[in-house]
Amino acid sequence: MRKKIVAGNWKMNLTFSEAEELLSAIVDGISEKGKSDTEVVLCPPALYLNMASDLSPESEFFVGAQNASQHEKGAYTGEISAAMLASMEIDYCILGHSERRKYYGETDEILAEKVKKVIEHGMAPIFCCGELLEEREAGSHFEVVKNQIEKALFDLENAAFMDVVIAYEPVWAIGTGRTASPEQAQEMHAFIRKTITERYGKEIADSTSLLYGGSCNAKNAVELFSCADVDGGLIGGASLKPDDFLTIVNSFPED
Ligand code: PEP
Repeated sequence: MRKKIVAGNWKMNLTFSEAEELLSAIVDGISEKGKSDTEVVLCPPALYLNMASDLSPESEFFVGAQNASQHEKGAYTGEISAAMLASMEIDYCILGHSERRKYYGETDEILAEKVKKVIEHGMAPIFCCGELLEEREAGSHFEVVKNQIEKALFDLENAAFMDVVIAYEPVWAIGTGRTASPEQAQEMHAFIRKTITERYGKEIADSTSLLYGGSCNAKNAVELFSCADVDGGLIGGASLKPDDFLTIVNSFPED
């Protein structure tokens, strides 16, 4: 059965002491709740990954980076390699976030290289895809998402693809307070699963976790996570508020 995952993308927020405070509030909340079959992934800024990974063995959460270089190593000032992340016990890496596509020119081709590097170094990519508002309005959202997935992921062998987590994040919903309706999320997630089935077969498609991201919050998570093909969320703004984030983590329907 596929994993339920809630990942918090802290983006470029929080000073060191604020990050310490947030981390400790989340760790306390997770231990209070006790064992759960939902995987919690915290993706702080790179500077704080070490602090998070030091705490993760004693607590029930995983640590994710927000980006990794497509290059193995060398003269790439300011970059962080997948090998470096892996050497710090990082489990996941967000790739292809719309902010990186928009502000840092990350193309599907670059993302295909990044995905391979991250998997090569034993981490799981959380690969983000999603359409712009004008693409949805033009009715091309399925084609856009299919294209992003095919170009960045479909060169992977079966075993490598099985490490991938996909986050569907309609760009018009990210940080806007405008969430996709449960029907819109389910429709796209079912389409993504069908696309994976056509390439890798039903068994692999059924075991791939598909997360929803885009203004998911403590109020709407229950409805979104009740959708058959929504296996959790990638959470931006609400992941900076410990109570809200913990509510989201606990928003799955009972099995
Ligand atoms: C994100 O940036 O991945 C995200 C989903 O942001 P928000 O939850 O703030 O819309």
